Amino acid sequence: MARPVALPRHLRDAIVAWALECRPNEACGIVSADRVADEAGQPSTFHRLTNAAASPYRFIVHPTEQLRLMLELDDAGQVVWGIVHSHVRSPAEPSPTDVDLAFYPDALHLICSLADPDDPAVRAWRIRDGVATEVPLEVGEYRGPEADVRRSRDGVAARPEARRGESEAG
Ligand SMILES: [Zn+2]
Repeated sequence: MARPVALPRHLRDAIVAWALECRPNEACGIVSADRVADEAGQPSTFHRLTNAAASPYRFIVHPTEQLRLMLELDDAGQVVWGIVHSHVRSPAEPSPTDVDLAFYPDALHLICSLADPDDPAVRAWRIRDGVATEVPLEVGEYRGPEADVRRSRDGVAARPEARRGESEAG
């Protein structure tokens, strides 16, 4: 089982919003990060891109937009963390075409399914050598420096204790 990766909630929300906006066609985009997921990259931005195929059944990332974004990311020291597209009616699982056309083995493939438009699903896959493996997503939780995780846990759990500590001291 692949190690889970964290996807900040605002990025998941942005992906779902873009998928809904692009209906009835498939949506596409790219999530950028400081490093790839295998190197514990922290996804920071969702870049909405045009589906040049303008089709409910497939997507082609608009080549000019893609080139422009790649140059921008390069300049900013960012990498492609995830390649995003939507499935309008099918589950959030890679189709045979998705597997055939997965040219970025280091990027995650994020699929947003609108099969149930009231409850869109976002799932992540690693596609290497023609094999798709699901990577569990932890939405809203950040994997990163240990200190950050601890701080957010303490912030919720330890507040009453901190107050008690203060009153004892005073
Ligand atoms: Zn697909």
